[in-house]
Amino acid sequence: MAATVLVVEDEARLRDLIRSFLESEGFVVMTTGSGAEAISMAAKSPPDLVVLDLGLPDVPGLEVSKELRRNSDVPLLMVTAKVSAEDRIRGLELGADDYLTKPFSPRELVLRVRAILRRGRAAVAPPTTSSFGAGMLVVDEERRELYCNGELVPVSLTEWRILQVLTRAPGRVYSRYELVNAVRGHDWEGYERVIDSHVKNLRRKLGEASCSPRVIETVLGVGYRLALKRDR
Ligand code: CA
Repeated sequence: MAATVLVVEDEARLRDLIRSFLESEGFVVMTTGSGAEAISMAAKSPPDLVVLDLGLPDVPGLEVSKELRRNSDVPLLMVTAKVSAEDRIRGLELGADDYLTKPFSPRELVLRVRAILRRGRAAVAPPTTSSFGAGMLVVDEERRELYCNGELVPVSLTEWRILQVLTRAPGRVYSRYELVNAVRGHDWEGYERVIDSHVKNLRRKLGEASCSPRVIETVLGVGYRLALKRDR
């Protein structure tokens, strides 16, 4: 059976474009330019997926998503007008399954819609982001992105892996040896010292991005640990 997509977008031209692309791909499409109407439409005949523009004239998109989430676990693809890391994170926290930044190609939107539907309900449930220290640090595993107070922190692959290990068990101390193993997949003699410089770089980047560099704590003679607690 064809999946039904509810498109919530107040720009009529864009709305029609999305509709025709989705319809030509075999989807059944409902559309509205109003957030309030979107909520009542979704309640009346639940769609299989919602494409939601965050910038709506009546009800803010984030409010709409919160309201939708209150009643169902319908997959959400959020559309944002500008790259606002904060909106994106709040959106993902509110349960958006993916997001697109305008301008985007309709073909890309169709691909995302298909991907979300393919992942299915079971896969929708586990969040791809985890947050620490009351939202100070947000780790998006799927996108391999790190945010400090809503600000994207550019990290190298090694830095990312170190952080991945530390955030796995906040508060637990990891020795340099353990970190080398986790990062390299094996023991690499001499690399333990290099961990220090990676941690130093990470701290500098965290500091530059409005996070305390002390997010990563040194435990003298042992190693490092994440000084933040996992949220929720
Ligand atoms: Ca808009």
